Amino acid sequence: MTSPPDRLEFATTLTASRLPDVQRDAVLAAPGFGVTFTDHMVTATWTPDAGWHDAGLRPYAALALDPATAVFHYAQAIFEGLKAYRHADGSIWTFRPEANAARFQRSAQRMALPELAVDHFVAALDLLITTDQEWVPDGSGERSLYLRPFMFASESFLGVRPAKEVTFCLIASPAGAYFSKGLSPVSIWLSQDYTRAAPGGTGAAKCAGNYGASLVAQQEAIANGCDQVCFLDATEHRFVEELGGMNLYFVYDDGSIVTPELSGTILEGITRASILELAAEGGHKVEERGVDVDEWREGVQSGRITEVFACGTAAVVTPIGRLAWDGGELTMAGAAAGPVTAEIREALVAIQYGRVEDTHGWLHRVV
Ligand SMILES: *Cc1c(COP(=O)(O)O)cnc(C)c1O
Repeated sequence: MTSPPDRLEFATTLTASRLPDVQRDAVLAAPGFGVTFTDHMVTATWTPDAGWHDAGLRPYAALALDPATAVFHYAQAIFEGLKAYRHADGSIWTFRPEANAARFQRSAQRMALPELAVDHFVAALDLLITTDQEWVPDGSGERSLYLRPFMFASESFLGVRPAKEVTFCLIASPAGAYFSKGLSPVSIWLSQDYTRAAPGGTGAAKCAGNYGASLVAQQEAIANGCDQVCFLDATEHRFVEELGGMNLYFVYDDGSIVTPELSGTILEGITRASILELAAEGGHKVEERGVDVDEWREGVQSGRITEVFACGTAAVVTPIGRLAWDGGELTMAGAAAGPVTAEIREALVAIQYGRVEDTHGWLHRVV
């Protein structure tokens, strides 16, 4: 891959028709998730000869793509997800954006896409958030502006090879709580027929195809009365990996906390990594290791496992109340989050919304 130029200049073309304040305020009052987008977006183009170029902020608009555009056929596409938080003093911050930028580079490598420099990734975010800052809700009700950077093969060509034209795009959407039910525990369907990622596959890349392949399992979860699906390892169908878009944590009766180790098939969540540090600072013994699904089942029955939660940027930390599979089920929580789940969730959210000091240097000021 051609190394990117040292500086990428972003041109700015503002929209002539911003959404009127009253309409935007109505959206921000109850944003939902991923339904309404801000007035602008950022795009850039990559070709082997020119590297990244034509970078700019412009009015949010549909993209015109040829039917032969490679991404439609071969799914050479990656994405990221992070949020901008408004603090009580009106300032706006992102959380560990360099970590998302680095993961975007790792995903690009796996999908034979060009890397975008960390500085350019962060500059694109800062530019869009600054321009559309009115769209960042105040932090009440855990609202935020969700940011979705993505990159795809935009060359029109049906040959099977890495595309010679690639598009980077960044869009933003105000977000409320991810799960409509709020913090009440979710139920999980254990998928025994489908796997999400195999050794040597793309499980550690945040690529579009992983999601496409997980939807039928998610459908099965819904059909069985569950909210989300949990995948096991593809080799032995024994070890717990993660949900379709969230990592997992187990809390034990001695206060220790375990998350499945990164084995190349699990997505390296930034929330997951942050919780590893926060839990250790909170006095919990933290461990990354394989968790057999029987350990989950037996641990809940014996009382050894006291809480299970899922984590990711969109839903932050979500308690798991029930595990169901073909032939059985297990209830593991009452109507509310367990104390350790609640403690860890609050530790993270308090940093993101600026309610406690950020001793890790995780926050990046935008406005
Ligand atoms: C994005 C994602 C996560 C969570 O990652 P965060 O960086 O914490 O948002 C977990 N699993 C999968 C499969 C994902 O795509």
